[in-house]
Amino acid sequence: MSVETAASGAREAGGSRGSSGRQEGPGGLWDSVKKAGFVIGSGILFLAAFGNSLTWHLQRFWGASGDFWQNLWTKLYVAYEGHDASLFFLGTMLAPTLAFWGSNALLLWVDITGTPSFITRYRIQLDKNNPVDPAKLRQALKCVLFNHVVISGAMTVVVYYLMSWRGNPCGPELPTFHWALMELAAFSILEEILFYYSHRLFHQPSLYKHYHKQHHEWTAPIGVVSIYAHPLEHVISNLLPVVSGPVLLGSHLSTTSLWYCVALVSTTISHCGYHLPFLPSPEFHDFHHLRFNQCFGVFGILDRLHGTDSKFRQSKQYERHTLLTSFTPLNESIPDTQKKGQ
Ligand SMILES: [Zn+2]
Ligand SMILES: [Zn+2]
Repeated sequence: MSVETAASGAREAGGSRGSSGRQEGPGGLWDSVKKAGFVIGSGILFLAAFGNSLTWHLQRFWGASGDFWQNLWTKLYVAYEGHDASLFFLGTMLAPTLAFWGSNALLLWVDITGTPSFITRYRIQLDKNNPVDPAKLRQALKCVLFNHVVISGAMTVVVYYLMSWRGNPCGPELPTFHWALMELAAFSILEEILFYYSHRLFHQPSLYKHYHKQHHEWTAPIGVVSIYAHPLEHVISNLLPVVSGPVLLGSHLSTTSLWYCVALVSTTISHCGYHLPFLPSPEFHDFHHLRFNQCFGVFGILDRLHGTDSKFRQSKQYERHTLLTSFTPLNESIPDTQKKGQ
């Protein structure tokens, strides 16, 4: 354990310098930013040009159930008429809280008990958290609860005033299916950009030492650790990248609430430590916790452009970084080889 911690520390310290050294070399940071702008710009143009035909078939499918959602919303809207703030907090606090703690309650059960084996066999770092250290977990939970209730709670109030000033998030009509999809795509792009750069900033040695080191205490993360962070980091790196999209686009409460739930569940999956069948792969961010200086973003787009996934792409974890569509754990189908440095 101590050897591993020392080795991790060396990688951690060397890593920050190493990555910043690379970025200023040939094809430096500015060049990468231009490339990122080009790729993201092209993506937006592509969506604008082909978005309609891409979603037309989905829209037809949605049409049958579209009325169902509008009727449901109308009932809520009428029930809460004149109480927009209550409706807003129900959507942006209660629903995401249920999504986060619901998924994490299941994961915590597995982490604490080390059972059932049909889940634990999908563990990424096989020798870790088996079961999780109770004292370390208790300490993390205190911080997670503080961040979730106090910091995220306060941010939701701020967002309510910003969105009310910007428009009417609790309007009587739901957004169209096309618009909701476009919004979710825009939120995701913005999250990738804001999370990647703020996260890399927190890896600058001086900021890392005071703020981000806390999140990296978990070299093998578990679900709740997704919001185990210094409060300042929680605001800048976790909350701002997620709430900026709905505020900038003046979104409806329905898409905002859905987006918060998606963001919280997907960060939980990224940290959960199990590569489960038919769920998004958590290998990318798990590798970030293992190696510190790789895989800073959410989707890996900016890591590819900035070359901050170079070691990841040579690893076994990269080979396993795929949607698992069978019940055979990837540790078995793609086992570790004898070679070191994977
Ligand atoms: Zn993390
Ligand atoms: Zn980090």
